[in-house]
Amino acid sequence: MICIRMPDSDLTIRSIDGQDFEVHRSIICFASAVIEGMLPRNLRSTTLFGNPIIQLPERGHVINTLIQFIYPTIPPKFTSLFNAAEVLEAVDCYEMYGVRAAIQDSLRLSQFPTTEPIALYILARNYRLDLVMSRVMKDFVSADFQRLPDNVLSSDIGRLRSDDYLRALSYARDRARKCLKILRDSKLHYKHICRCQTRAIEFDKSTGILHPKFQPTIQDYPCYAFLRFKALAAEQLQREAIDFDIFKPSLRLSACEEEQYRCPDGLLNLMRNFSQYFTDLQRAVEAVGWEYPEGYKSQLYIDLIKSPMDDDGEDFGL
Ligand SMILES: [Zn+2]
Repeated sequence: MICIRMPDSDLTIRSIDGQDFEVHRSIICFASAVIEGMLPRNLRSTTLFGNPIIQLPERGHVINTLIQFIYPTIPPKFTSLFNAAEVLEAVDCYEMYGVRAAIQDSLRLSQFPTTEPIALYILARNYRLDLVMSRVMKDFVSADFQRLPDNVLSSDIGRLRSDDYLRALSYARDRARKCLKILRDSKLHYKHICRCQTRAIEFDKSTGILHPKFQPTIQDYPCYAFLRFKALAAEQLQREAIDFDIFKPSLRLSACEEEQYRCPDGLLNLMRNFSQYFTDLQRAVEAVGWEYPEGYKSQLYIDLIKSPMDDDGEDFGL
């Protein structure tokens, strides 16, 4: 059965289930040196009137997807992750590096990171798809592992190992610690002095703590509402490593409420005057990516792989 017939084809690829794909030798050989190496032997099986035939052990739908990725057409969409795994297996076998990159892009932009984060994580780990791994990490770490059915922990794609989850969780905590440091080091750069600061400065001058002629800055006397925001945000980062949202307005409102007696300008400061500070802070926190840095090994992960109880193959939760 002929599935694809390209005009001017000079090579036939035959699947294990008897489907023929009539393609161009130069394009296929450019995509895979392994297939090119299969040619001379197969050329002898050329019939008088037909193209040389290469018989591959993959099924027709896998070869069909491979050809769609090799030719400059709109890349196909995977119907399932199992389907993607079958194609990736062939890609690795035939060393099709260009197709591999195209598949990474296709998976990153697909719905799978949100709909099947755990299976996609396993796939990305098995086939060393680093870009997919970065994309899926946040959803993977956020998954509720206690409520997962067994078929998710061990699927057609592969098995989730205990170290997969512990390493990701440990990474999420390290990441939250980085964000906490950014928060603690962040400073206000404003000339604006609010009423709580004026009051504190006057008090310190009247009691002699501050020299009457000294001109303090906003760093010397930060607004109480601002300090309260920092404390609340830090608490949240220490408590919640994954789904923290320190920029939601409700957190700033709580800070103003708690400090309303000390700072009558708190609401105005946190909701409007300090907006540039919050924009800069948010940008800095978002720049802390979700992907493992090169060679990342958490202490938790190291302890686990050293443990005699775990031989790197123990299944999660089993
Ligand atoms: Zn204030």
